[in-house]
Amino acid sequence: MGKITIAVDGYSSCGKSTLSNNLAHALGYAYIDTGAMYRAVTLHCMDKGIISQEKFSVDGIITALASIKLEFHFNKISDKSEIYLNGKDVEKEIRSMEVASLVSRVSAIHEVRVQMINQQREMGKLGGVVMDGRDIGTTVFPHAELKIFMTAREDVRIQRRKLEMESKGIKVSEEEVRKNIHQRDQDDTTRKESPLRQAEDALVLDNSNLTREEQLVMALGWAKERM
Ligand code: C5P
Repeated sequence: MGKITIAVDGYSSCGKSTLSNNLAHALGYAYIDTGAMYRAVTLHCMDKGIISQEKFSVDGIITALASIKLEFHFNKISDKSEIYLNGKDVEKEIRSMEVASLVSRVSAIHEVRVQMINQQREMGKLGGVVMDGRDIGTTVFPHAELKIFMTAREDVRIQRRKLEMESKGIKVSEEEVRKNIHQRDQDDTTRKESPLRQAEDALVLDNSNLTREEQLVMALGWAKERM
């Protein structure tokens, strides 16, 4: 069977990475979490004092891009590919609330998007990849054989994100998670450059009432039809 490209887009905390990771496993494909790339750029700029809650230097972020090297390495223990920033595993640090509160402003910068999109195209150029994000089916791989647009009820999304953060040892209130999800959806759908929107040829997957296994069966069925 030929290897296809699968693009998974959708709002924050809809379970895109869970589905994409499971799908990649089932098909023997690579999984690329593009949100992790924007988060890692944000983390780097925070660590270098270029951005914080009080300060946001767009010029500083653009200059810093030249000294950011991102890679994904598969971790056999967690059974997932994890992101490395300049040689260091930052998978846990990039999930903090502070990174989440700044990442949408960073990801709206033209130069940041150009650099990330070029790397994403390079990583996926041979096919056999499941890539998730906000603009994969519309901008990064507009010719992807399968495009999935994920959505879920807000209460479900808040609970999932809270549990995910708690499982990583990050304490957070429901209200903080709700505010952050709202703000990021608002920023991601209204930005000028490749805003989040459903590609015309995307299949919608609402997983509010689906288990992980059920959503995987549905997506695998769609993938096999296209191989
Ligand atoms: O998917 P995740 O929630 O980790 O993404 C973090 C942020 O990165 C999003 O809120 C969005 O601002 C940005 N992003 C993006 N384009 C992508 C993936 C993520 O702008 N393809």
